[in-house]
Parts: sequence; C-alpha cells; structure tokens
Amino acid sequence: MDIKEYVLNRKEILKKEVSSYTTKPHLIIIQVNDDEASNAYIKGKLKDSAEIGVVADLIKLPVETTEKSLLDIIQKQNEDSNVHGLIVQMPLPKQINEGKVKLAIAPEKDVDGFHPLSLYEPCTPKGIITYLKAIGFDFVGKNAVVIGRSNIVGKPASKLLLKENCNVTVLHSKTKEEDMNFYIKHADLIVIAIGKKWFLSKQEFKPTAVIVDVGINRVDGKLYGDAEPGLHVALQTPVPGGVGLLTRLTLIENLLEAYKNGIHN
Ligand code: NAP
Repeated sequence: MDIKEYVLNRKEILKKEVSSYTTKPHLIIIQVNDDEASNAYIKGKLKDSAEIGVVADLIKLPVETTEKSLLDIIQKQNEDSNVHGLIVQMPLPKQINEGKVKLAIAPEKDVDGFHPLSLYEPCTPKGIITYLKAIGFDFVGKNAVVIGRSNIVGKPASKLLLKENCNVTVLHSKTKEEDMNFYIKHADLIVIAIGKKWFLSKQEFKPTAVIVDVGINRVDGKLYGDAEPGLHVALQTPVPGGVGLLTRLTLIENLLEAYKNGIHN
C-alpha cells in the first residue's frame, strides 16, 4: 500500500469518527511569516481539516509582530476551552524566540509535539512509524539508520525506532563519508531528514532496504527529496506525495487525541 492510498484510507476512517462527535475538534494555526513553503504547508493542513470535518482556523499575524503579542495570543488560545489543538507555523521572524514560543503552548494542546512535556509525539516521526507498521515492516532487530538529528525529525525518529526494538544509528553533518557509506550499506531502514537534494544516490544499499525520504528541497520551484528517485531498494517513499502526507495526517490524529483529552478533563 503506497502512502497516498494509506492516507486516503485513514482520512475516511477519521472522517467517520469525527462525524459521530457532537462537537467538532478545533485547531488553531498561528502564522507569523509569509514564506512560500509555510503557505503551502498551511494550505495542506486546512485542506485536510476540511476533508476530515475538523474546524481549523488560521490566525495570520504581520511579520513585525512582537514576541510579547504572540505570547499573549498563545496564552489566550491556551485558556480557550473550545480550542483543542494549537500550532505555530515555523519559521518565526528574528525578533521572536522560537524556543520560548514552543514552551508557551500548553502541552495538552501542543499537537505538533514540540513542547518537551507535550502529550503528543512529533507528527513526522510518529506518522512514519505508524505507516511502516501499517505496511507490515518488522522493526525488531533491524538496523535503522537515521540521517539528521533535528529536534522535530531525527532525534524523535531515533527514539521511536529504538522503542520498536531497532538497532539505531544516528548520523549527521559531522559523520565521516566512509562511515556514512558503511552504515548505509548495512541498513535495513534509512530515515533521511537533512534537506540536501538527492544526498542518497550513488551509495551502496541492501536490496531489501526501506528508505523513508523526509527531505523537502525546493529547487527552481520544484520539490525534491533527500534521496534520488529509483534507488535499488525494496521500498523508497516519494517526494512529493510521501512523508509530507503522513505528517499532515498525524497532525489531525494528534488533534483528535487532544480533543478526547479535552472532553475527559
Ligand atoms: P534541520 O533542522 O534542517 O537539520 C538538518 C539535519 O541534517 C542536522 O541534524 C544536520 O546535522 C544534518 N545534516 C545536514 N547536512 C548533512 C550532511 N551533509 N550529512 C549528514 N547530515 C547532514 O532538519 P529538519 O528540520 O529535520 O529538516 C530536514 C529536512 O526534512 C528538510 O528538507 C525539511 O524541509 C524536511 N522536513 C520534511 C517534513 C515532512 O513532513 N516531509 C517535516 C519536517 C522536515 P548537524 O546536526 O550536524 O548540523
């Protein structure tokens, strides 16, 4: 089952679930930038929300917004019991401290999973693991190589893979090329999230390997992954139409969890 088909099926299931609710889950998206990538991501999140039947509102603030006013708006949304999920689209303008903003969101509403006490796993790694499970990937004892160690993808992905009993190796920009090639050659699963077009290309892979390509690289208006398409492996996720769809789906899944948590409080 490819990612598009998997996501379509899951969306239908979520839509049915939401239609049985008496009130609707409510997501607030705050945007303090006007960059092309953020606009595209938000458009996707609003589209998914509408399709599944949850309420999503965008609060678009001017790029000159001060840190204090953003924090005040976040506080207001934290206190609003009709709001179940709250996300702030990154990046933020330079006058606003990203770390402070992430910590300001109430952990029970932090459906992006960025707060250290968030009740939810970050969307991209959680979506990847859920998808791999759905297609029957057997994690136990497998050599998983995670390339990239960001707080939103690489680190949480390695934690979740460890929880699934993989042997996890995390590689990064300081990894020597010969070591990179060695680990890649022996990997059963490669999760790459570095933001370098077609970084995986000429290396040697196990023919049975699975490559999960998280990278999104915009070059001349076109999107490319971190892995060149058509590598000789058992499965390689496409870009576009791959992990990005899983990330968006998981945001809604986290929102539904937040909604249920809200009801029981
Ligand atoms: P990030 O914060 O941009 O950090 C990049 C990571 O890649 C760092 O850990 C860096 O290592 C490592 N790196 C950079 N160059 C490398 C190289 N030549 N060899 C090995 N490692 C290298 O990471 P991110 O936010 O996770 O984003 C990574 C990519 O995924 C971007 O293209 C982003 O757009 C995409 N993304 C996609 C989704 C989705 O839903 N599809 C979600 C999130 C992100 P150091 O730590 O040593 O600097």
